[in-house]
Amino acid sequence: MSEFKDKKIILEVKNLKKYFPVLGGVFSRPVAWVKAVDDVSFHIYEGETFSLVGESGSGKTTTGKTILKLHEPTSGHILFEGKDISNYSPSEMRPLRRDMQIIFQDPYGSLNPRLPVGEIIREPLAVHKIGTKKEQEERVVEIMKLVGLRPEYLHRYPHEFSGGQRQRIGIARAVVLNPKFIVADEPVSALDASIQAQVLNLLLELQQKLALTYLFIAHNLAVVRHVSDRIGVMYLGKLMEVADTKELFDNPLHPYTQALLSAIPIPDPDVKKERIILQGDIPSPINPPSGCPFRTRCMYAKDICAEKTPPLVDIGGGHYVACHFVKKGGKVEYSKS
Ligand code: SF4
Repeated sequence: MSEFKDKKIILEVKNLKKYFPVLGGVFSRPVAWVKAVDDVSFHIYEGETFSLVGESGSGKTTTGKTILKLHEPTSGHILFEGKDISNYSPSEMRPLRRDMQIIFQDPYGSLNPRLPVGEIIREPLAVHKIGTKKEQEERVVEIMKLVGLRPEYLHRYPHEFSGGQRQRIGIARAVVLNPKFIVADEPVSALDASIQAQVLNLLLELQQKLALTYLFIAHNLAVVRHVSDRIGVMYLGKLMEVADTKELFDNPLHPYTQALLSAIPIPDPDVKKERIILQGDIPSPINPPSGCPFRTRCMYAKDICAEKTPPLVDIGGGHYVACHFVKKGGKVEYSKS
């Protein structure tokens, strides 16, 4: 059971949907919809790291961006500190942008190449009119030190930094306003393995020092294992399983989670494990399979899986699974077809 269960919920997502139109015909009208996020519900406790994991096309990044209202939700509710912000206008969102920030995957693409680093980090303070210019510059130096960047680099441009340093600039920009909640969208996947651990450690350190809550997005379960308190596994716009990190790794119950975990190498030659190879690619979110979205790749699929969509059910202790054959208490009733 999560150590956070008695803590305040900072963010709650209820039945969130985000569909993008596919335009066609002479009048460029919607001819189909990409169901990027399709009825997703979860909550995040204050001070925790909740991770969303899944293959590309699973909807995890769209979920993060929709929560921050960088995409307008199609339907459903987003509650931040108890306030339903799903229908907030851009001007209503403006004061909340101080509390809700994002770290992007591509540290280079997200930084303005024409601005020196000091200006890139100062910009959010200027936009929100916080302090005098001198106070803003002092804050920039303070934040640069906090994220491990030397203040004498203030006047350098993004291209003069390494990938890891550029991600530190992106992180500095995200924390300069002292936010409460950060969506970290694949913050280390563009970095070399040796740098990944340093950036992950920095994020953990900042979480402690600044009392941050993270929604961490990644395609690799191994990356999120050491930073997450709880993990949600997404597939084709839906959550398949949600559990505390230890519970998810020790007792994965959804066949998709089992397949993802089986792909993680174990650094012990004496430990043998069977790799579950998923057949085919993730189906198109324009025309997802009926019933369970995972059924076209699931070795346990039965007729009912095509007929009914399994709901995400708490099978006990905050462990949620969306499979017709996983029952309360974690009793598994699936068998190979
Ligand atoms: Fe597999 Fe059916 Fe369970 Fe979906 S509901 S994961 S297809 S057994």
